[in-house]
Amino acid sequence: MFRKSKTSLEAKLCLLTMGLLFAVLLGVGHFAMSQQKKALVDQQRTAFQALARAIALAAEPVVSTNDSSVGQKIIDQLNQTDLDVEYIVVSDNSGNPILAHSRSAPHVDKKLFAGQARKLAGYVTGYSGGVENVYRTELPVRVSKDKWGTVAIGFSLGDVNRSIDELETSILLVFALALIVGILGSIMLARGISGQLRQLIATARDVAKGDLTGSVPESSSDEIGELSKTFNIMLRAIRDSHERLTQRANTDSLTDLHNHRYFQERLAVEISRASRYHHNLSVLMIDIDHFKNFNDRYGHPFGDRVLREIAQIMKAEMRDMDVIARYGGEEFAVILPETGIDDAYAAGERLRTAVQRHCFYGAENETVPMTISVGAGQYPSHSLEREGLIMAADMALYRAKSTGRNKTCRYEQELQDNPAADPYRVHVLLRATDLRTVEALSSAIDSKHRFPLGHGKIVANKAAKLGAAVGMTEEECDSARIAGLLRDIGQLALPDGIVTKPEPLSAEDREILASHPSLGHSIVQKSPGLKSMLPGILHHHESFDGSGYPFGLAGEDIPLVARVIAVVDSYCAMITDRPHRPKMEPAVARAVLANDDGHQFDSVIVKAFLKLLDEEVAEDMAA
Ligand code: GH3
Ligand code: MG
Ligand code: MG
Repeated sequence: MFRKSKTSLEAKLCLLTMGLLFAVLLGVGHFAMSQQKKALVDQQRTAFQALARAIALAAEPVVSTNDSSVGQKIIDQLNQTDLDVEYIVVSDNSGNPILAHSRSAPHVDKKLFAGQARKLAGYVTGYSGGVENVYRTELPVRVSKDKWGTVAIGFSLGDVNRSIDELETSILLVFALALIVGILGSIMLARGISGQLRQLIATARDVAKGDLTGSVPESSSDEIGELSKTFNIMLRAIRDSHERLTQRANTDSLTDLHNHRYFQERLAVEISRASRYHHNLSVLMIDIDHFKNFNDRYGHPFGDRVLREIAQIMKAEMRDMDVIARYGGEEFAVILPETGIDDAYAAGERLRTAVQRHCFYGAENETVPMTISVGAGQYPSHSLEREGLIMAADMALYRAKSTGRNKTCRYEQELQDNPAADPYRVHVLLRATDLRTVEALSSAIDSKHRFPLGHGKIVANKAAKLGAAVGMTEEECDSARIAGLLRDIGQLALPDGIVTKPEPLSAEDREILASHPSLGHSIVQKSPGLKSMLPGILHHHESFDGSGYPFGLAGEDIPLVARVIAVVDSYCAMITDRPHRPKMEPAVARAVLANDDGHQFDSVIVKAFLKLLDEEVAEDMAA
């Protein structure tokens, strides 16, 4: 684009200035020349006049003797000098030529003399009109003893004029040439400089906007070339440090895997790529089983070592194109581009068995068994959205957890048959924490549970009322209402068959079902706006005597909101038809509660609830 030049910018500018100065000097020179020419001509005239006087004196005897041959001799002698005499005409006082000589007619015939001389005089006179090439001077001369005439001498100025003209022309030519070269040089220099500066400005603007991919051409070795070179070096340094920073910002420092933020960004990119090319894409969510126990037993540093080892196993087992990330504390996630759910399942199993076979060591170098649970979701069949896909893989992971751990589960088709339980919808409803959306989510849970529509809402309203009755603040009552709606959200991740089985549950089924408070806790935990609902969801199946689940808490160790929900939930379930039993009469259900006697429920709360029911009945009757 630019011609590589070795000259420095300073030198270029100096040269250009000198060129322009030269042109100006030539212009001034030309003006001085024309002044000089005038002075020269004036000088010459003075000299010619003196000469003419001398010639007239010399011519006097010739004229007076009227001997033309002597006159001719004078003229010949004049011709031999360097003087450029164009003509001499001697005339009597009446203007009749006596002697005439001209360069064009050196030997004038005496007979023709008069006419020729007159012509010559006329010619000479007429000649004085244009450029003055002949300087004519007239002097009185004695033509006989007592008569005076005139001698007219024409001196040629041709040579002087010609040489001055030639000089002038060459000065003018050099001036014009210098001017053209100067102007062209300055245009080229200006274009060269501004072109490079424009490039620099454009690239600097791109850099300011965050685009670090550009560079400027290093087209010259002058100061701008040096500036461009330095700019490129600076740009490379910024790029390198930006890449290092980005790498660091995208990397988990403990495991050296990608971090959560990068995973989310990359998943969005991979989904849009898969959508463009109509490809499949799968996601694996991985969680270490009972990792808390390991940490409690061996301490966090050992736990960290396990996390690093599992990260290494993942790197070894996954393909280069897979994106492996540490999703959270002891959770990992993998994006498998162009992979269907079956292959993703196979990859999950490969990983799971590799972890199971790996030797993890405890504090005394004893081997410690370590397993992982894996959930797999697929784009586009499980969800078209990033959050939905993660939620699908998460649900599958929760199912793996609830059905025994150390296994890989796919997101189950049966969940998709229920549009209310669409993973993306669940995600959206969980994010929007207003009551209306949570109620919509509650309908999905009711439908999964085969409860009549609005069952969750009834539980929630009663829980809020009971909360107020036992002294909970308004805020706590709101939490009780939402926790009442979402108490069974963990069941969304359970196999359909267990939740709605008409026959009595096996011990294994009961164990799976008992995992739903923990699963619900895991699901809701990821929605920051619903954090205050967690105790109600996690503990609503604890029993007052400590025989409940998941933690076997007893008495007032069970959060108040959970004790409230437990009473309302049980009563509402008893008076509703279930797949395995018909509904009870309200009076029978109330009797069950009243006879519990602090076994499953907090008696104080039961009492408050029974009172509340009485009031409701009274209100209904009054209405
Ligand atoms: P499960 O997933 O099988 O239900 O049981 P868990 O014990 O793994 O359950 P949970 O997910 O509740 O426990 C996560 C534990 O992971 C809690 C914490 O001790 C541990 N953990 C999270 N992040 C880190 C970490 O960076 N380093 C270590 N050492 N431990 C971590
Ligand atoms: Mg976990
Ligand atoms: Mg875990």
